[in-house]
Amino acid sequence: MANTRPRVELIPIFEDNYVFCLIDQDNQEVLVVDPGEASKTSQFLKDSGLKLKGVLLTHHHNDHIGGVRDLVSEHPAPIYAPKKNQTQIGAADTWVYEGQKIPLGPFEFEVIELPGHTLGHVAYWEPKLKWLFSGDVLFGLGCGRLFEGTYEQGYESLQRLKKLPSETLVYCTHEYTESNLIFCNMLSNLDNSPITGDSEELEMYANQLQSRREMDLPSVPLKLSVEMRVNPFLLAKSVSQFTYLRDLRNKQ
Ligand SMILES: [Zn+2]
Repeated sequence: MANTRPRVELIPIFEDNYVFCLIDQDNQEVLVVDPGEASKTSQFLKDSGLKLKGVLLTHHHNDHIGGVRDLVSEHPAPIYAPKKNQTQIGAADTWVYEGQKIPLGPFEFEVIELPGHTLGHVAYWEPKLKWLFSGDVLFGLGCGRLFEGTYEQGYESLQRLKKLPSETLVYCTHEYTESNLIFCNMLSNLDNSPITGDSEELEMYANQLQSRREMDLPSVPLKLSVEMRVNPFLLAKSVSQFTYLRDLRNKQ
């Protein structure tokens, strides 16, 4: 049988969310990550003729899980969700936790717990393909708000991501890169800014972002190697620097 490299299809939903469909062409199957609503993903499954193999959920916010019941009622499949969100995600049936390995068709995911945005937040890491599905932890030039976790937890979760291979592609759920760029530019213009990335690299990043967005293309997936050089939240060297940035960003 042919060995086609799996690929990811991005389905835009709401204002700025993406649902990720991981396509295993050889087996005609698809995994879906964070379906905030069902109709577009359901339509994609019908149009493509692919079978739903499973749903992966990163955390309990409704814009990530809102479509899961409708989706599996039409396309029955197991639903993976963080064990720490057992009370919040009633629809799920398979609970995942730190270090767990999940073999699914050609994929073998490793679960990474990343508290901060929420306490139970997980990411799904596929080491062969170097794909990371990280929900609302890291964004292009930014990071997720801390709704439940502490600054320490938010900072430590980003440190864990920095240890992944630099070739990693980060599939984050929101298209926030343009608004985060405005923050980064403001930050580099501050007289006393403690965190400044490589300004040439940031300019290149801004140009590429602009041309992609003009063509209506997503800025996701992010290249971890690039984010490591320009994303101020990844450049923060201490919890206090991270706290300073997060507070400043919240005020914007
Ligand atoms: Zn969220």
